[in-house]
Amino acid sequence: MSRSRALIGGAGTGLAAAWWLHHASHDASTASSPHRERWRRWLPLPGLSWASAQAQSLNRRLGGDKTVLSVNEWTTWKLVQTSMESTTARRFLFEPVQDAAEGITVATSTPVEVPPISCVMLRARVDEASDEVAVRPYNPITPRFSDGSLAFVIREYAGGKLSPRLHELRPGDIVEMKGPFEQYRMTAGEHAGRDVVLIAGGTGVTPCYQLIQDLVRRRREGDERRLPARLLLVFANNSELEILMRQDIEALAESSDGYLQIQYVVKEAPLVPAPNITHGLVTREYLQRVLPPPERDPFVLVCGPPGMMEAVSGPKTKDRKQGELSGALKALGYREAHVWKL
Ligand SMILES: Cc1cc2nc3c(=O)[nH]c(=O)nc-3n(C[C@H](O)[C@H](O)[C@H](O)COP(=O)(O)OP(=O)(O)OC[C@H]3O[C@@H](n4cnc5c(N)ncnc54)[C@H](O)[C@@H]3O)c2cc1C
Repeated sequence: MSRSRALIGGAGTGLAAAWWLHHASHDASTASSPHRERWRRWLPLPGLSWASAQAQSLNRRLGGDKTVLSVNEWTTWKLVQTSMESTTARRFLFEPVQDAAEGITVATSTPVEVPPISCVMLRARVDEASDEVAVRPYNPITPRFSDGSLAFVIREYAGGKLSPRLHELRPGDIVEMKGPFEQYRMTAGEHAGRDVVLIAGGTGVTPCYQLIQDLVRRRREGDERRLPARLLLVFANNSELEILMRQDIEALAESSDGYLQIQYVVKEAPLVPAPNITHGLVTREYLQRVLPPPERDPFVLVCGPPGMMEAVSGPKTKDRKQGELSGALKALGYREAHVWKL
């Protein structure tokens, strides 16, 4: 995915970007950090018991009616459930820490608001000897107003700093979170009546899922006139077995009365041929076949690994700006106004 750890682009994200650039360099710093002692006390490694983690919780500093998720302050979350999503990705469900014993009120009854499309920074210690910590952004897949818990689908990158550690987490282990940080906002009425296409590769589906989940819900609630006319998710994965969140996406499509359509692209030949599964890559010819043509003025969001971004829309710039449109979409006649790179 090209969503490397620079900034979170998009409308109204200047602050988030500045925050991220600032904190990425600080929080990923190592041994000589002045925060070293703090980490020793507050960030148990995966495997430490929940009880000891809880006793050292950062939430000690939180009081009263503080929200469970804040853009200004790290809050502590406990892993309650984890399961395999594919051979390289896991699903994680976290709950905010509640530490009534210390007189702390954590607003577990207050729903967590993660407006589409936003990410949350996860922070955890990645090396005990040096007390090094790492911070990376992830897109929660729980609905905008969840019951207070947050779920993620996270791929493990061999040799990566944080994702292998997250994959070692067991129920009861803790991480810290900050957010949400907005990446893209579709304002009310924006794109009303247009086709909205989301081209996702691998875990690039997580921000797309936030948006389609929100739009399908709003349409069900009767907001039709102010919404896009139709949603098309083009979702690329290595193989049919590797398709992430397939059940969730298909359940959403089924509940949408035809509003959300899905086209899968898989690198390896599909196990079961189906009209909406194409064997291959997201090429210019493929997009020409499945996308509404530029004359129909669709709006296209793209989020995927670097190779896919390069081929489909061109990458974002190093400082996470949109950059020039290139690749298949440009060749097919779509303009910059049609495309948003997440
Ligand atoms: C806004 C945003 C939202 C994100 N949401 C999610 C999400 O919901 N789920 C998820 O799994 N990831 C998501 N990511 C990616 C995530 O933030 C990390 O980049 C990823 O987990 C790798 O972190 P790491 O510390 O393990 O690897 P790092 O130590 O940062 O990188 C090590 C190596 O791993 C490889 N690598 C790292 N990241 C990627 C990548 N994205 N694509 C291809 N190769 C890579 C590269 O070879 C890299 O050199 C998101 C990124 C951004 C910017």
